[in-house]
Amino acid sequence: MAAPQVLVAGAGVVGLSTAYYLSGRGFSVQILDPGPFPSPTTCASLGVLTHFNGGDDPYSQLYRQGHALHAELAARLRDQTGIDVGWRPLGGVDLACSETEIAEARQLLAFNLERGCPAEWVEGEDLRQLERSLSARVLAGVYFPTDQRVDPELLSRALLQAAQEQGARLSLGEGVEEFAQQGQGVRVRTRAGEHRADFLVLAIGAWTGELAQHQGLSLPVRPVRGQHCRFTGGTELRHVLRHQGIHLVPAGEEILAGATVEETGFDTQTTPQAAEHFIHLFSQVLDLPARLLGQRAGLRPKPKGGRPHLGPLQAQPRVFVAAGHYKNGVLLGPLTGQLLADWIATGRPPFDLQRFAPER
Ligand SMILES: Cc1cc2nc3c(=O)[nH]c(=O)nc-3n(C[C@H](O)[C@H](O)[C@H](O)COP(=O)(O)OP(=O)(O)OC[C@H]3O[C@@H](n4cnc5c(N)ncnc54)[C@H](O)[C@@H]3O)c2cc1C
Repeated sequence: MAAPQVLVAGAGVVGLSTAYYLSGRGFSVQILDPGPFPSPTTCASLGVLTHFNGGDDPYSQLYRQGHALHAELAARLRDQTGIDVGWRPLGGVDLACSETEIAEARQLLAFNLERGCPAEWVEGEDLRQLERSLSARVLAGVYFPTDQRVDPELLSRALLQAAQEQGARLSLGEGVEEFAQQGQGVRVRTRAGEHRADFLVLAIGAWTGELAQHQGLSLPVRPVRGQHCRFTGGTELRHVLRHQGIHLVPAGEEILAGATVEETGFDTQTTPQAAEHFIHLFSQVLDLPARLLGQRAGLRPKPKGGRPHLGPLQAQPRVFVAAGHYKNGVLLGPLTGQLLADWIATGRPPFDLQRFAPER
């Protein structure tokens, strides 16, 4: 029997993960994306896979499973493709530079410990031992040993290569303009022509709301711009640092500082104001020269109500949605791909995902 065919719209981390797990289960997969590849939003991500402070609600469970999957996936992708996706169990530190921030950090520690998240108070010599490059302004911190990082661009390239080795194809220049389930299959129109398949997965990030509206559907996912800056000094930093909502992340030879949260629609410009803000924060926290190398912007897919949209459409059950991962798409992308591949293969969600139903 011929392998069932799946069209995956979107070659960001969510679409690529879905293509990877589907092709691994023997599906014939074609990925459609207008380009460029790799996705600018996925590449703008800092790749931080941060700790989570407990909770038994479905989103917290998803978050924990997503976090746990990365180490194993990185090892598998290295074996399959030879690509090191840069997964590192770095640990993270939330920094406090004033008495007010110390009081807030103590609350953060208590909150996390109450929910069973490993965390520790660090100050003085212990803090300097942990992170030698901290400036004298930093007084104390909360250390989270389970924070990790992965390189989103390398992860994208490895997922694509592995998926291609399993038979998947990537067609760039093919944005989905229209889709419809017809009988037990789907018909998809792109600028380049028409495709038919057994299933369609919509993993088009911030563009989901727009396409859905065009189709007369309500999938409220909108773009929220995020920017980060790249600095020299990556080898001097050992942990993910957080201060005033901004991350400083060691990424090979570079330090990434980000990210902004901006309601600017589909505008992907970077701004000098964002760079100034990151340079200021970098210089406050680190005793290193702030040498700017570059700047990136991406469009986070923000869902209404905070939870991603996962699963089949009610009236078109062969069309699956995987969108709205907002600030956690790199963390949740691989798990999303694994869940959807399972769901499509077995006809059932692997566990109760009702809370993430696309139309809600
Ligand atoms: C500055 C910044 C920092 C971030 N930091 C982190 C972090 O530390 N950790 C974390 O987990 N997440 C982080 N994120 C969030 C993360 O980057 C996103 O959640 C994730 O990239 C979303 O992936 P996606 O595949 O859903 O969307 P995208 O990466 O945007 O991919 C969607 C793809 O769909 C394509 N597309 C659009 N329209 C169509 C169409 N009609 N047909 C076919 N294809 C289409 C696009 O071209 C694109 O390639 C950050 C984001 C930003 C901007």
